[in-house]
Amino acid sequence: MSGSYTTTTTITAPPSGADIRPEIKDDIHDPSYQDEEGPPPKLEYVWRNIILMALLHVGALYGITLVPTCKFYTILFAYVYYVVSALGITAGAHRLWSHRTYKARLPLRVFLIIANTMAFQNDVYEWARDHRAHHKFSETHADPHNSRRGFFFSHVGWLLVRKHPAVKEKGGLLDMSDLKAEKLVMFQRRYYKPGLLLMCFILPTLVPWYCWGETFLHSLYVATFLRYAVVLNATWLVNSAAHLFGYRPYDKNIESRENILVSLGAVGEGFHNYHHAFPYDYSASEYRWHINFTTFFIDCMAALGLAYDRKKVSKAAVLARIKRTGDGSYKSG
Ligand SMILES: [Zn+2]
Ligand SMILES: [Zn+2]
Repeated sequence: MSGSYTTTTTITAPPSGADIRPEIKDDIHDPSYQDEEGPPPKLEYVWRNIILMALLHVGALYGITLVPTCKFYTILFAYVYYVVSALGITAGAHRLWSHRTYKARLPLRVFLIIANTMAFQNDVYEWARDHRAHHKFSETHADPHNSRRGFFFSHVGWLLVRKHPAVKEKGGLLDMSDLKAEKLVMFQRRYYKPGLLLMCFILPTLVPWYCWGETFLHSLYVATFLRYAVVLNATWLVNSAAHLFGYRPYDKNIESRENILVSLGAVGEGFHNYHHAFPYDYSASEYRWHINFTTFFIDCMAALGLAYDRKKVSKAAVLARIKRTGDGSYKSG
């Protein structure tokens, strides 16, 4: 079925990962970097973020109580908005801009940057810098959402406190030249504040209200607050749950894990042991369309000629890795 795709670049002998994509290497794990001994880091709370995040989640909970009285189109709209903004993170900030696992032509990149702004998870440049640091310095203090600091910290807590000095120090040294050179990414960064206000809050509140006469309250609490909180938590689960719960069939020496539930919510990003083992694979999974709407989307874009040069690790290389570093949980066939 999906295996009949032939236009991808198959990586037959995955080396250390560096030369598959000449334009980027700073998302490859560097095991030589380890935390220095010392007391646990002091937490410096960012009260503005704590208050805004608490208000958003209270609003989202109230939104849940309004769902039964919503118009059908509002539910549909909120769902489509969820999927599109999630793609702005998964197909956009993650697989395209952080890892360069495929290439995208301008119309697709424009769509993804808009979708990414709808998701409001910091601009692509900042997201990618945090994410490359997460891969390169996984599970150390230089990993922005270090899962060794617990579920809550890696889920949302890291956004509510000042960054650990190691994140700033090591993150600042990462090679971000590819993104600095990309005008669209820099344009989003320059106009991020008005962009996110419009795309994440104003537009999804006005559309149901104006277009099909939904009440302002339902539009605001369901299509905006509830939808935004759901997308946030679904993506955060990749950093928390998928680093704590699940098997490690590809590499038992790293903390990231295969988690089907996370894949369902985060449109295909829960094959996380695989993804950290092979960050250059455009599917972020050994498989393609299996619980992976993001890969389906990228493949559709490729069929339209808007995505190309999708990097996929060969089956033989995957099997070799499983044999070498897997935890023994891999089921073939
Ligand atoms: Zn991860
Ligand atoms: Zn990644």
